Amino acid sequence: MSTEKRCSSDEVVDMELHCVRCGTRLYVSVPQADAVIASLERTGAAILICVCGQAQIIRCKLQRRND
Ligand SMILES: [Zn+2]
Repeated sequence: MSTEKRCSSDEVVDMELHCVRCGTRLYVSVPQADAVIASLERTGAAILICVCGQAQIIRCKLQRRND
């Protein structure tokens, strides 16, 4: 369990992903998360940009597979 500080005016969503390039845990603002989820629902994928500039393609968790 994480006990991160929360601020209602600056909420972020933990995407449970780490940047492939720098390893930073990816968080997005709530409005951005809504857009990401909408994109996932429409296309099954969405793109997040890390603070380092690395684009991360995320895919719908319902379709997550291992090779
Ligand atoms: Zn990064």
